[in-house]
Amino acid sequence: MKAITVKPGKVGVEIKDIELKQIKNKIKVRTISTGICGTDREIVYNELNFVKPEEGDYLILGHEALGIIEESIENSIFKEGDLVVPMVRRPGNCKLCKIGRQDYCLDGNFIEAGIRGKNGFMCEYFYEDEKYLVKINKSIQEYAVLVEPLKNVMKIVEVFNFLKNRVSWECDDSTYSCKGAWIFGTGPEGILISLVFKSLGLITTIVNRHPLPTNILDFLDINGIEFFNSSSDDWSKKLKDYPMDVAIDAAGTTEIFNQIIEHINNNGIIILFGTKGSGSIEKGEFITKIVDKNLSIAGSEDGSKLHYIQASNYLENYAPKQNIKNLITGIYKPEDIWILKEKPKDEIKSIIKWS
Ligand SMILES: [Zn+2]
Repeated sequence: MKAITVKPGKVGVEIKDIELKQIKNKIKVRTISTGICGTDREIVYNELNFVKPEEGDYLILGHEALGIIEESIENSIFKEGDLVVPMVRRPGNCKLCKIGRQDYCLDGNFIEAGIRGKNGFMCEYFYEDEKYLVKINKSIQEYAVLVEPLKNVMKIVEVFNFLKNRVSWECDDSTYSCKGAWIFGTGPEGILISLVFKSLGLITTIVNRHPLPTNILDFLDINGIEFFNSSSDDWSKKLKDYPMDVAIDAAGTTEIFNQIIEHINNNGIIILFGTKGSGSIEKGEFITKIVDKNLSIAGSEDGSKLHYIQASNYLENYAPKQNIKNLITGIYKPEDIWILKEKPKDEIKSIIKWS
């Protein structure tokens, strides 16, 4: 079968022919589509130091996928023809991994498909333990490849709901209509976060240091999400109508963190998701602000099986309303491996179609 592979430790990506052995008690899944994200391109450019093969010297790339069951196993809840999304992270042996919360792994001894120690899904078929498959409704087939990135957002919402219990957060009509969410970063993850916070009823603003292509601006506009250019727009003017009560960073620069601490309202919640951290954080006055404003700051990584299910339910409910199919800006063939090296200018989410 065709598979897109990398050699961990080396720059480059290739398409090659690999045969997988049938594995007992595992379900055969035929790949329908795989999504491409920043992590895949970082792996291709050898920018991540934790990338590991499953065996040999190559790794099949790809952790965002949708597949169809080709051969099930006895007594399985899955039958041939069912649509499934495979989970990325697989548990190690710690206490939290053992209860399915490998997203909160205590010791880092988990593996991740297409990233560390396990082949991914950019291939024509794969064998999978049914425990790590999430059943998908056929009505969302067109964009179900977004379930994987969206499950990270569902975990962010879980973190948000936990932190806002510190103090009464509701507006005087019991909703969040007077509260504002600011999302930093306009990649697919940032856009998905802004859609979900908009659906929770918050005034939602998304931020980048650069102007956005028209297709992204139009998408945000029809969804009632405000765009703020942090290099050229006026902060204080914008904050009057678009309050910052929760700030979610999907970009990861320390410059952004400094801006958030400066502008967020009292009792604000900051959730950090982006990891491209560089630069340093100003101390002193900065710490005083965190204390004086009663800020809650949390990191959030990955998500559990429950979050995959919530992501799938979200797409069933909101994809038609929020035109989520328009997030897929390019559909490519497995042979188009250049797409793993170059990001098209108007890209939100590029996908590879396998069958
Ligand atoms: Zn663990």
